[in-house]
Amino acid sequence: MRRSRAFIPTTKEAPSDATLPSHQFLVRGGFINQQGSGLYNYMPLGKIVLEKIKNIVKEELDKAGCNEVQLSFVTPIALWEKSGRAETMGKEMLRIKDRNEAEFVLSPTNEEAMVALVKNRVNSYKDLPLNLYQINTKFRDEARPRYGLLRGREFLMKDAYSFHASLEDMKREFDMMEATYKKIFTRLGVDFRVVEADSGAIGGTGSKEFHVLADSGEDTIVICNTCEYGANIEKIFESEEEIDALNEKSYEELSLKNIEEKCTCGGTLSFKKGIEVGHIFQLGDTYSSALDAKFNDENGKPQAFHMATFGIGISRLVASVIEQNHDENGCIWTKETAPYTVNIMVSNIKDEAQMALGEKLYTELQEKNIEVILDDRKERFGFKMKDAELIGFPYTVIIGKELVNGSVQVYDRKTTEKTSVSVDAILTHIMDLL
Ligand code: ATP
Ligand code: MG
Repeated sequence: MRRSRAFIPTTKEAPSDATLPSHQFLVRGGFINQQGSGLYNYMPLGKIVLEKIKNIVKEELDKAGCNEVQLSFVTPIALWEKSGRAETMGKEMLRIKDRNEAEFVLSPTNEEAMVALVKNRVNSYKDLPLNLYQINTKFRDEARPRYGLLRGREFLMKDAYSFHASLEDMKREFDMMEATYKKIFTRLGVDFRVVEADSGAIGGTGSKEFHVLADSGEDTIVICNTCEYGANIEKIFESEEEIDALNEKSYEELSLKNIEEKCTCGGTLSFKKGIEVGHIFQLGDTYSSALDAKFNDENGKPQAFHMATFGIGISRLVASVIEQNHDENGCIWTKETAPYTVNIMVSNIKDEAQMALGEKLYTELQEKNIEVILDDRKERFGFKMKDAELIGFPYTVIIGKELVNGSVQVYDRKTTEKTSVSVDAILTHIMDLL
């Protein structure tokens, strides 16, 4: 991409309600813009990051034997009446009427619809297990939409639903998906923890959350410093007041405190703040029974499917990466999430030698399938540099005054260090970095 042709409207102004770095930098960096309360548009850079995250999730799920589908986002209310959630979901579920006064819902989740899809299409234990997923828009009319993409009303979720002939098989899938999620979050380059969680309104017998560790996280979790154990405080504290009080405390206030109890491994337990980016549930047969969705077991006897569900907040992840990786000047994308890996900045586009080298390197990197952007704008060096920092490209090759001495500089966004490299060695140097 040539920056002169790109739609990347960066600004100095952050929205007045943007208190968190991810919200400020994603808007200022021209990734997203607010359409309405809890509603966001993705501009080209935001769209690229979103697609990258989607692709990693898709690749790992496909490898794990899941099938991708896409359900209609608008669902008839009748579906929600069958499970009782037309009543229990309350105001978070947005209802609309069509021209014939028929009532519909903007899907906040899709258990009912997915069970209805499988019902009468999967009839035998021989067709099980089955895991279906989609990466699709959700709508929840949140009481307090805030923090940009972290808590939107319209957002992108990966939701998967698995169907099993036995409880044991459902648990096997649950463990396998936990391992798959670990691979996904590791590939995304985020520092995360798996914690035991409350099953909440959805019910069921077991649930785990995946949290990106970040001081600004809305959730408080307890983690062991020795083993992998972790739990959401919602799981380990009984009283609502105690939970609310801890959630309201900032990370600084909490981190001073280790909790009195020791981990079963003997390790020290301490509080951390986390952003919930994934949630896996053992559902049981709540929804399959409610919708009378059955398969014939080995003895030809009809049985309700055992189910599990698996969610990932795709759009929330875009913001979570930045909540965890930023400095005062802007975003610091991880390798797998960066919108472009290399930014070639031509300091003075009127200088023919600078421009020629920029073009040459741009072509060479493209030929090597490196995601590269050429900053060929007629702007001051300082302006372009601030822009590069705000957006957070992992590497910027600065082609400037040093070119007369045969060298350019490579700026590393994470370390903020600049290294001089000779023009002859620049391509190899970049390839070694990646
Ligand atoms: P939270 O407790 O943060 O409200 P939840 O427990 O209601 O989330 P789930 O029903 O488990 O959410 O949804 C699966 C995933 O979808 C969550 O783990 C989260 O990453 C994402 N998600 C949920 N609500 C939102 C939202 N309003 N905006 C963006 N992502 C969301
Ligand atoms: Mg949840």
